[in-house]
Amino acid sequence: MSKDVPVYVAGHRGMVGSGIVRALERGGYTRILTRTRTELDLLDRAAVRSFFETERPRLVVDAAAKVGGIIANSEQPVEFLLQNITIQNNIIEAAADFGVDKLLFLGSSCIYPKLATQPITEDSLLSGPLEPTNDAYALAKIAGIKLCQAYAKQYGKNFISGMPTNLYGPNDNFDLHTSHVLPALIRKVHEAKLRGDKSYVVWGTGSPRREFLHVDDLSEACLFLLENYNEPEIVNIGCGEDVTIRELAETVCDVLGFQGELVFDTTKPDGTPRKLLDMSKLLSMGWKPRIPLREGIRGAYDWYLQHGSR
Ligand code: GDP
Repeated sequence: MSKDVPVYVAGHRGMVGSGIVRALERGGYTRILTRTRTELDLLDRAAVRSFFETERPRLVVDAAAKVGGIIANSEQPVEFLLQNITIQNNIIEAAADFGVDKLLFLGSSCIYPKLATQPITEDSLLSGPLEPTNDAYALAKIAGIKLCQAYAKQYGKNFISGMPTNLYGPNDNFDLHTSHVLPALIRKVHEAKLRGDKSYVVWGTGSPRREFLHVDDLSEACLFLLENYNEPEIVNIGCGEDVTIRELAETVCDVLGFQGELVFDTTKPDGTPRKLLDMSKLLSMGWKPRIPLREGIRGAYDWYLQHGSR
């Protein structure tokens, strides 16, 4: 497809959407369409349809979602379920009705069963019960995948879905109550260092394992899928390696130069014991990640120092 077709990135203010805009620009795309929340409320079906009818995007990346860490997800299941389903329904339906050639829907590794065999292959979707701390978000994302697949099956639409692992990088949410673990640890260590504390608090037991992918790698993978993949079956997007939360917390201390102790607050939930994606499918297509975790953490910290928490 030519690089001067209009490409709409939904959610371009977020970490993922902004990363995808940067990747599209690097990739030579010249007509990137974006709308802020004030300009276009994605919860408003009529407004979304009117936007698609007027602007006629040919490619769409749906990176718009209400996202949050383990506590935010458990505290607001209604908003996570309702808002995510509404936003994605509005975008996917309008894309189908107003002549979009290709749509990339972004899900999450939390769609997979809590106790899926590791590393998690794409075909383990719906093979067991979900992790309860984020099942509302996961169910919304599963509904989005199924809607894209239904449009492919029933109407021949080229609507594809990528499943990113835990992400981090510039434009992340550093709010300690609602963020994911990596930005939270960066902020906590930074503040502990400034105060001269002797320790800092890590939630849970430290034993869960998570995989972390830099948003710039994720965005390059999305571009790769847009340009090379045309099947409705979901594709995992990870880095192929995981670490324990304890190891992650130690690495953050190391990168930021903090010598204090880790204190584990076991009143906070661990969530799913392990989430490592099987990357065979995407690797076999020829894509691979390039940003090592330490380098990525350093970059995310630099971004935080410049921008603070939003
Ligand atoms: P998850 O991957 O969906 O479970 O979401 P999170 O990124 O929020 O949490 C990942 C793991 O990191 C969980 O076991 C958390 O308990 C643990 N964790 C440790 N410290 C923190 C913290 O300060 N914030 C968050 N969000 N998680 C933390």
